[in-house]
Amino acid sequence: MARVLFENVTKKFGDVVAVNDLNLEVQDKEFMVLVGPSGCGKTTALRMLAGLEEITSGSIYIGDNLVNEVHPKDRDIAMVFQSYAIYPHMTVYDNIAFGLRLRKKLPFYDEDEGHNGRTNGSLDFLARRRVREAAIRRQVEEVARMTELTQFLNRRPSQLSGGQRQRVALARAIVRQPQVFLMDEPLSNLDAKLRVTTRAELQKLHRRLGVTTIYVTHDQVEAMTMADRVAVMKDGVLQQVDTPINLYEHPANVFVAGFIGSPAMNMFTVDVEGGAEGLFLKGPGFRVRVPEQHARKLADYLGRQILVGLRPEAILDARFAPDADPTTVVEALVEVVEPLGRDVNLYLSTGEVPFVAHVDDRTEAAPGQRIRVVFDTARMNAFDISTQQAIL
Ligand code: ATP
Repeated sequence: MARVLFENVTKKFGDVVAVNDLNLEVQDKEFMVLVGPSGCGKTTALRMLAGLEEITSGSIYIGDNLVNEVHPKDRDIAMVFQSYAIYPHMTVYDNIAFGLRLRKKLPFYDEDEGHNGRTNGSLDFLARRRVREAAIRRQVEEVARMTELTQFLNRRPSQLSGGQRQRVALARAIVRQPQVFLMDEPLSNLDAKLRVTTRAELQKLHRRLGVTTIYVTHDQVEAMTMADRVAVMKDGVLQQVDTPINLYEHPANVFVAGFIGSPAMNMFTVDVEGGAEGLFLKGPGFRVRVPEQHARKLADYLGRQILVGLRPEAILDARFAPDADPTTVVEALVEVVEPLGRDVNLYLSTGEVPFVAHVDDRTEAAPGQRIRVVFDTARMNAFDISTQQAIL
């Protein structure tokens, strides 16, 4: 079993707390993505797990083993980095075989196997080497098939594209059959299109191999599309761990709400007011009713201010939402119209506060116009202004 556990792990570089009391359990076979802005501590967390960085306090487990003091090469992990770190003077074949050749025992290979019952002792050195090389060849060829490198096995890295080189680095990690893969921004050297296809290939490989994977990126789209679960970090502190959909729909705080999703969630500072028909949110240039399912949770905030979050797709062009509750209609000024093909991003403002709506492509909104939009308050998020934590 190769679950990974960080228990109260802290790393300080002098006065800088790079990772602050991290508690995170990655389950066996899980694809966990660590995401956050530059400097949030994700690479440091990964390097501590790999044994490349000493931890200041806390414990790290791989499987059931405490690995704090275990040498990196004995942790049974394989790393893939942004810089491919492949040997330029070796062929693709030799690059993949390299790690296996250094090993005393090959993964899943018993040296006694296939010798008609003869023991190692009865085989001379050269014969044993031939058998071992044949076993290495089988494994390299199998991994080359998986990573679609079969036709490039005799080339050197300089004769490969960036994407192919990254696949060599990946193949080299896979062939070692580790308990855990650690990947640090492995796709960031690839162009946008290749990143998307390699992303999908990595997911396919993960499904096939079922190896616990921890993947570091600053790109929230990568995190959301690849992960079983995402761990969001900021300033060395873990903010939230959850499935992509739960992170998107129920961000735990204002930071996660703003970091996950593109365009970002719209935020409005509003007053919570009472009225004959229930609770209302009064913001810059609008006053909308709170739907019943949220009213009870917001009741404590009556007479106070909160932050309300609305995803761009929770703001509709009123012309195409005839059944919308009239108390949720807001008038807005159109600043920019951004057609995306099937739908349109409208950059709008109300009371000088900018926001984005992701609407139906039938919209006829044009810059300079005033239009009516619907705030779908059933889908709203709300946050306490002083703690920045979610209320809904
Ligand atoms: P990026 O995406 O830019 O790589 P990151 O989230 O991976 O960022 P880390 O590289 O883990 O962040 O760095 C976390 C913090 O620790 C940063 O403030 C960084 O400056 C600091 N740090 C990292 N390594 C060292 C070091 N060797 N010495 C001093 N400070 C360091």
